[in-house]
Amino acid sequence: MVEPLTLTLLGMDREEIAALVREAGEPGYRAKQIMDAVYRQRVETLAEISTLPQEFRERLAESGVLVGAARIEQKFVSVDGTVRYLIGFGDGQSVETVWMPEGDGGEAGDGSEAGVEAEGFVPSTSGAKAQFLEPDPDAGLEGLLHPPQHRGSKDRGTQKPWRASSGRSTICVSSQVGCAVDCQFCLTALLGVKRNLTAGEIVGQVCAVLKDQGVSPPEDRINLVFMGMGEPLLNYENFVKASRLLVEGVGIAERRMTVSTAGIVPRIREFGEEKIRPKLAISLNASNDELRTRVMPVNKKWTLEMLMAAAREFPLRTREWITFEYVLLGGVNDNPENAREVAELLRGLRCKVNLIALNPGPGIDFTTPSVERVALFQKILREAGIPAFVRRPRGRDIYAACGQLKRTVEVATLPESQLQTISPAPER
Ligand code: SAH
Repeated sequence: MVEPLTLTLLGMDREEIAALVREAGEPGYRAKQIMDAVYRQRVETLAEISTLPQEFRERLAESGVLVGAARIEQKFVSVDGTVRYLIGFGDGQSVETVWMPEGDGGEAGDGSEAGVEAEGFVPSTSGAKAQFLEPDPDAGLEGLLHPPQHRGSKDRGTQKPWRASSGRSTICVSSQVGCAVDCQFCLTALLGVKRNLTAGEIVGQVCAVLKDQGVSPPEDRINLVFMGMGEPLLNYENFVKASRLLVEGVGIAERRMTVSTAGIVPRIREFGEEKIRPKLAISLNASNDELRTRVMPVNKKWTLEMLMAAAREFPLRTREWITFEYVLLGGVNDNPENAREVAELLRGLRCKVNLIALNPGPGIDFTTPSVERVALFQKILREAGIPAFVRRPRGRDIYAACGQLKRTVEVATLPESQLQTISPAPER
């Protein structure tokens, strides 16, 4: 059977929707009505766009236009409140999207100023040493010890215990189905890359999660990180278009979004020139070329020297800094000597470092270093004047933490109450 040609509204920008409206012979203001319905109201079907005349909706449907909303196929809820969504698309492929309520405080959520403020970090704007206000040694545990429902939240009448009430929730989105980069410590790498996501599929993840959580930016302050499955800079056009749609359509501010890259150097340079762009995070993960090539084969093509040159030349905006992520692999890259090398590499850069103790997984041949070892690494960086933070793992029990996104559906240890299967709603 030949599939009818379809066109999804989700993924179209203002100009594209305006063109569609024009071609249909409709007045110009219909474009804004469609933009609002798709990105603000987050409708799932044309029938729900009640601002449009019935006749126009029917004509759109007849010409093969769909909303193209993403479908939540499964949902896993962690004991720490993190939710991992399995989100499916029309061709049967799926990706994972993670919701981290109440601030990141976790390793993926670097887009949050809140996480930084919580630790009293004042970024240096001049390349001089960053300042630390009284760091709270227990900040990382706070969220686990006092989950938000015990903190007198300002919930507006909903029963969702983890609802974003203080505007610090973070969504972690995927950019590809699987990943081609082959980092040796990452479970997503084991999938290989199946395909790129379209801009609509990237934004669709965000819309589906916002809707499910009953939150709406900009009233609810949502941070967003492109740190799910895939390498965003290897799906460059769609990723950039998606970030524009998230700003213009969905209403998430640029400064609340961060993209993480394994180090696709030419794309980092191109990205710096974009008018609308999220903040930049770079997965460093090793302190010298030999080590980095071993754990991240992509380093053969784009060496540390090339990567650091791109980082140094990256055009930062006012009050912006680059984040470097560093996954600590026990006995491999977590020695004091490695910390000193990292400090050398980053000297003089307006940046901060997020340390992530390895999240383990089947098929991953590395170990998680001890808390003491991680703390020593952090101490060496801080003493060298580099702001360094230890990210609290989020949702490890449901395979939602960094590097664990592998579309795992058998989470054997989960009680039934934490595993919810959603039956997909048919479009229209
Ligand atoms: N491909 C992009 C986006 C993924 S972000 C990138 O590499 O940056 C995911 C982050 O999790 C990266 O910083 C990555 O280094 C880190 N990560 C991967 N596997 C991990 C694991 N098993 N434990 C902890 N962090 C991991």
